[in-house]
Amino acid sequence: MSTPLPPRLRFAPSPTGSLHVGVARTALHNWLYARKYGGAFLLRVEDTDRARSTPESTQGIFDGLRWLGLNWDEAVVHQGANLAQHQQDARMLLASGAAYRDFTPAEELDRLRKEAESRGHAFRVDRAAVELSAEEQEQRLARGEAYAIRFRVPEGTTAWDDMVHGPIEFPNKDIEDFIILRSDGTPVYNMAVVSDDIAMRITLVMRGDDHISNTPKQILLYQALGAPLPRFAHLPMILGVDGKKLSKRHGATSVAEYEHQGILADAMVNFLALLGWSPGGDIEVMSREELVARFEESGFLKKAAVFDPKKLEWMNGQHLAHAPIERLEPVITPHIVAAGLATEQEITERLPWYRRLLELLRVRARTIDDIVRQAAPYFRDQVEYDSAAVAKHWKNGGRELVGAARERLAASDWDAAALEDALRDLAESRGIGAGALFQPLRVALTGSSASPGIFDVLVLLGRDRALRRLDSALANLA
Ligand code: GLU
Repeated sequence: MSTPLPPRLRFAPSPTGSLHVGVARTALHNWLYARKYGGAFLLRVEDTDRARSTPESTQGIFDGLRWLGLNWDEAVVHQGANLAQHQQDARMLLASGAAYRDFTPAEELDRLRKEAESRGHAFRVDRAAVELSAEEQEQRLARGEAYAIRFRVPEGTTAWDDMVHGPIEFPNKDIEDFIILRSDGTPVYNMAVVSDDIAMRITLVMRGDDHISNTPKQILLYQALGAPLPRFAHLPMILGVDGKKLSKRHGATSVAEYEHQGILADAMVNFLALLGWSPGGDIEVMSREELVARFEESGFLKKAAVFDPKKLEWMNGQHLAHAPIERLEPVITPHIVAAGLATEQEITERLPWYRRLLELLRVRARTIDDIVRQAAPYFRDQVEYDSAAVAKHWKNGGRELVGAARERLAASDWDAAALEDALRDLAESRGIGAGALFQPLRVALTGSSASPGIFDVLVLLGRDRALRRLDSALANLA
């Protein structure tokens, strides 16, 4: 039995904008498949559309892939650099008779197309009229007339077993003899893609299902070039929660925007992986390693996927809560610094304290911004009081209780166990539940009624800052 060769996949973005989340999903599925099966994940920048391709966009794609951790193998291929190969392949098809010359001037073709359309027909080239006798071709070539190269679509049916959609077939009679090389010598998209995919020895073409209609033409080109066919996987499209094609109207659609909003790369990867793929069962939250381990052909879904930013936020909360703190800390710190809460150096100087703080805050956070917001009372001298929390917990003796707690705390050792004894003892002596004491205290210390456990808050703030904060609450929250 021979072992199958490792698969070779490529991600082939057109650099005409920022890295869109749908395009990133395609990149990710290619990457997951390659990593799962020990294959290669290649990157090809399809920059042949000179008018629309920009270096900024190419850079944005590299940055987005790096942020997501989708490292590629081998050198990046720039499609524009392969022009000679595309032309050579097109000429090979001409030489073998699989394609023929079309001397019709482009303007004439345009005119015929418009005319047919105005009569409500789709224009189709008439091979018999276009393909000239060998003699006439010689004469025109001798006169230096330009020609396009057109593929001679054979009779029959073109079919493939799509990894996502199962068997798909197109009757060839529905496919027009299409141009592969324009009269200016530039290849059309399908020619360039097939030529590159053959040269890169791609064994699995995985892309958005908006390319399904290109696939029969591409298969015909492989066959005419005598090249082995890759497998094809056409991933379902991505819709907004309203069922419409995902667009700006739905909010952020570029990977970079989510990076700036404080979404973790691991959460984004997890979320994108589940757009059009599922490991089965109820499993949703997965690390990168788990995703690779579970990624399988059978998990592809045909149905359009829905991009729900709320779910992404939830997923982010899950990753924030469960990722190793050493992995999170370097991701969160720049946001803390940017918010002006502390400098890098101040953080480094009290790293154990800082990590403990993150450990406690992340449980209640969905985004990095949530963490930054919750972290403020531990760095700043002043807290902002949530007026609803004050109104709720500061009345009915709340203020008086905080005053009494301050006395007890000031006399206590400053560790969680001693602080707990002091406060529970006070609650007992007043015959009240612990919550009735902790809530007004929490509001005084953090400004809000949601925070980590009160003893942890006290320890994190430290004795001086905690007592000063109680004093200022007692003075100001009359
Ligand atoms: N450049 C094409 C796109 O961005 C991808 C083509 C392909 O994957 O075959 O849609």
